[in-house]
Parts: sequence; structure tokens; C-alpha cells
Amino acid sequence: MRIPLSAPDISEQEIQAVTEVLRSTQLSLGPKLEEFENCVAAYVGASHAVAVSSGTSGLHLCIRGLGIGEGDEVIVPSFTFIAVANAVRYERATPVFVDIEPQHLNLDPNRIEEAITPRTKAIIVVHTFGCPAAMEEILAIAKKHNLYVVEDTCEALGAGYKGRKVGVLGDAGVLGFYPNKQITTGEGGVVVTQSKKLAATIKSLRNHGRSDSDDWYQHSELGYNYRISEMNCALGIAQLSRIDSILERRETIAKIYSQKLRGAAELILPNGPAADCRISWFVYVVQLAPRFSETQRDYLVGELKSRGIGAGRYFAPIHLQPVYRTEVRRAALPITESIAPRCLALPFFNRIRNDQIEEVCQSLMKLAGEIGVRARTAV
Ligand SMILES: *Cc1c(COP(=O)(O)O)cnc(C)c1O
Repeated sequence: MRIPLSAPDISEQEIQAVTEVLRSTQLSLGPKLEEFENCVAAYVGASHAVAVSSGTSGLHLCIRGLGIGEGDEVIVPSFTFIAVANAVRYERATPVFVDIEPQHLNLDPNRIEEAITPRTKAIIVVHTFGCPAAMEEILAIAKKHNLYVVEDTCEALGAGYKGRKVGVLGDAGVLGFYPNKQITTGEGGVVVTQSKKLAATIKSLRNHGRSDSDDWYQHSELGYNYRISEMNCALGIAQLSRIDSILERRETIAKIYSQKLRGAAELILPNGPAADCRISWFVYVVQLAPRFSETQRDYLVGELKSRGIGAGRYFAPIHLQPVYRTEVRRAALPITESIAPRCLALPFFNRIRNDQIEEVCQSLMKLAGEIGVRARTAV
């Protein structure tokens, strides 16, 4: 792709930080791990941070660490990355899909209570595309029904909710640092929490279930190797040190897209955040107007790609994936099923140039205009 959907932004200083680790004697479980955890905790305002191998392993360890297992139900959105529901199934619990609201594409708090049963143990709230979910309402429902709240903050590092950062509002928050995220460690994730006990459990589970008091080959419980290397952590520390300018740049890119695409009648542009919230821009996703179909969306993706422009289908609903077709689905998901087939992610990365944004917008508007004309003539 000439203009990819996403691209990492790695500075010379960051390359040097990783190289320094490679010249040291400690490549795992060393000082960079602790420093990275401290930096992330300080940035989001958490008392504890535990770094792990990915966002997915962070989600898994939250489910496991909260004692959720067979027979339990966890409320999740379907309009998100499949790892959210997979993490629930890893522990043989059941993901129960709830619909999203159309403004910010986050879990609709008005649809949560009807999905709660005596087996419901937790809600995984995703801050979709970096836009904070309605946490006040969701936390109130969770409190009323005695449910845990895990915030999937993998798309929302640095997003703000009423004066606080997302990730620290529920029982635990999970950050992800895959290369398409706001900052990257290559692969990696961090669980943040205010609970000392949960942090200690997750710390043990990431390293084969070994507790601090155990000897090296003494293991208290069944754990995993979800460790993250010192090289990943060194990259994360350096990336996080310039998060403010990264988020500023991404906001500027989003504004340019919105200005240039404003006149296109075929497109619905992303909304700004709710009052007292701040978006951390993860991707720039437009929707085709409701009169268009999934086939037309896929045609646009294909045409953009053939012009060297990386466009993506964000997200294919989880409940429609082959691996989930046999799972029980409780609620109807009309908003998810209406919006997901019309979503189109545009190239979005720190180093995208203004002339590249211009080219994406010109191509998109021309193609969208053409399918618009064709749709009208067909009627
Ligand atoms: C990226 C992402 C994750 C974590 O992905 P990994 O590849 O496991 O780091 C989890 N949830 C959501 C919503 C994501 O976008």
C-alpha cells in the first residue's frame, strides 16, 4: 500500500533505547519492565500496573484473576475486536453480546440490564476507537447488580472521562500496544487496577503462577507465560514519553479528515466525544449512509486498495464470526448489524502527510459519489 491503513512511528531515540537493552545482560523480567509499569500507572493514574505479552493476555488474566469461569456470563459488545469475547471463552465462561449506541459505537447502557441474569459476573466495556463509553451509567448498573467492570482501553490510551483517564474507572483496565495502536511496544499490553490483590494475582499468573514468595520452580497455581520482554518495555517507555504530542497529531489528522469530508452526502463522519470527555484518536472510521449496503462498502474498500490506499472493514461483529455462530446470543443487535457493514476505516497514523490525507479524501469522495449516483439511478 502506498498509503497504508496504519504504520508505526518509531524514532531514532526509540531504536537506541531497544539497542541498549540488547547490549545489556537482562532481556526479560528486568528494570525496564518495572519502569514501563510505573510510567503507565503514573500516566493513567492507576495504583498498580502489570505489563503482559498482549492486550488479549491482559484481558484473559483479568477474567481469570477476577475468578470468572464455567457457568458465568460476561456482558460484552459484539462490535469490537474478537479478543474481547475470546478472553471470556478461554475460561469457559459465556460472552453475552449487547448492542451499541449509534453516537459513539460503545455499549448502550440502556441495553445492558435486560441482558443481566443471576449468572452475570462482569461487563467488559470497550472504549471503541478511542472514544470513552458512558462509564457513569455503566458503573451504576454494575454496582446495582454487583458486577465487575473491566475497561478494554486497548484503543483508548489517554482518553479522558470527566477529568480522569479511562482504564482506571472500573475494577481493571487493559491497555494494548500492538503496532496499530496510539503507541506500540511491538507486541504487549498492560493491566491497570487500583486493587493490590488483583495486581498481585495477575503478576503471578503472567509468570507461570509463581508468587513472589515462591522459589523459581515452586508454583502455587496454574499460570501462563504472558511475560513481555525488556526490549518491548524499553520501546514502550520511550513511546509513552511523547504520548502528548502523538495524541495531538492524531487529533489534527482527524480534524483534517472531517473538514475535507464534511460535504460528502454519502458519508457519516465520526462524532466528537460526549461532554466532559476526550477522545484518544485510534482510527478514523466513516460510515456509508444507511441506504448503502455491505457490498457497496466492500466495493469501496477494494477500489481504494487498488489505488494503493489501505482501507479497512472495522469491525466485523463478533457474533457473526464462524467461531461464534454456535454461541448463544441473548439480545437482538440491530444497531451493530446495521452499522458494522457500512463502516470504513481510512489510513490513520502519526506520520501520514497532508497530501496523503488529501488524496484519500479525493479518491473516497469520488468513489462514494459514483456509487451514490448508481444507487439513485437504480431507484
Ligand atoms: C487491539 C485490541 C486488543 C488487544 O489486541 P492484542 O493484539 O492482543 O494486543 C483488545 N481489544 C481491543 C478492542 C483492541 O482493539
